[in-house]
Amino acid sequence: MELCLLEKYREFLPVTSQTPIITIGEANTPLVRSHTLEHELACGELYFKLEGCNPTGSFKDRGMVVAVAKAVEEKNTAIICASTGNTSASAAAYGALCNLKVFVVVPKGNIAMGKLAQAMAYGAKILAIDDNFDKALEFVRIITQKHPIALVNSLNPYRIEGQKTASFEIVDVLGAAPDYLFIPVGNAGNITAYWRGFTHYKQAGRVEDTPMMMGFEAEGAAAIVKDTIIGNPQTVASAIRIGNPASWIGATTARDESGGTIDYVSDDEIINAYHLLARKEGIFGEPASAASLAGLIKLHNNGYDFSNKRLVCIITGSGLKDPDTAINNAVPPIELPADLNILEKEILKD
Ligand SMILES: *Cc1c(COP(=O)(O)O)cnc(C)c1O
Repeated sequence: MELCLLEKYREFLPVTSQTPIITIGEANTPLVRSHTLEHELACGELYFKLEGCNPTGSFKDRGMVVAVAKAVEEKNTAIICASTGNTSASAAAYGALCNLKVFVVVPKGNIAMGKLAQAMAYGAKILAIDDNFDKALEFVRIITQKHPIALVNSLNPYRIEGQKTASFEIVDVLGAAPDYLFIPVGNAGNITAYWRGFTHYKQAGRVEDTPMMMGFEAEGAAAIVKDTIIGNPQTVASAIRIGNPASWIGATTARDESGGTIDYVSDDEIINAYHLLARKEGIFGEPASAASLAGLIKLHNNGYDFSNKRLVCIITGSGLKDPDTAINNAVPPIELPADLNILEKEILKD
């Protein structure tokens, strides 16, 4: 049997003899080679890391399994997070596994339907506030300072520790670090985690090089690029609709130490990449996930030369998370009477 995340990378994680080894099948996600876009974008080699294949459909499970195992080890009976959706789905799942009380604080009316459905199904107590993610995070930070409830946002250092295992998997599969890693940036925990993963692997002698870290915010939420807090962040990509990233310094450190960049992509660029990914590669990621590919396309159009280079784009979450965006940006179904001739005619039109 495959080892679970907590076992496989135990030596790189804060796992002790007291840590419960829990799993619902997180990590060990596919790294697939591009079929079409690699050629169209003139890349040497282009791969997609499919983090939507995690048990709750996003990379958040990698960090959450460690954060919840440590919360249990430290005798907590309740966990809380602020969330744009995926953190709450993941916290609710691992909390249910460990019989913890789970509180999730989300921006009211601003969370994708699939994510809300998950948190509800797993039985979390969902508190929808009339403000944005940044306010929700501010509130849960205060509450966890006052009460014995474990905070499982990426401010929790165990989250970052778990998420860094994705870098290990990339190196283990490719046998080396890629030249470039493209990744969406919201609260900036994930870019921080990947960079830590690559550098820890290098320190341990498991890999010689580290990639250039290419992070992409959404244009309407580009706090790091614009070097200012965005009071009212706006983007179709709800998972990166964050105006004051908690791991800001982690992101700029990853950028500067790796010789990479943090840039932004517009909603049109995100939706275009989202469609290309689905229609040219058969990969349905949620809109925020497509910011990595949108960033690659932007740099390609600006004249970057990626020939002879090996690139990885992180596809952070499943497209099923956000059915509304999928439906609102596509051709609706053609409704027909139950008539074979009419159906046949419609099919032969194409
Ligand atoms: C959380 C999330 C992001 C952003 O990751 P950060 O660590 O907040 O930068 C991007 N895409 C998806 C699908 C997410 O769930």
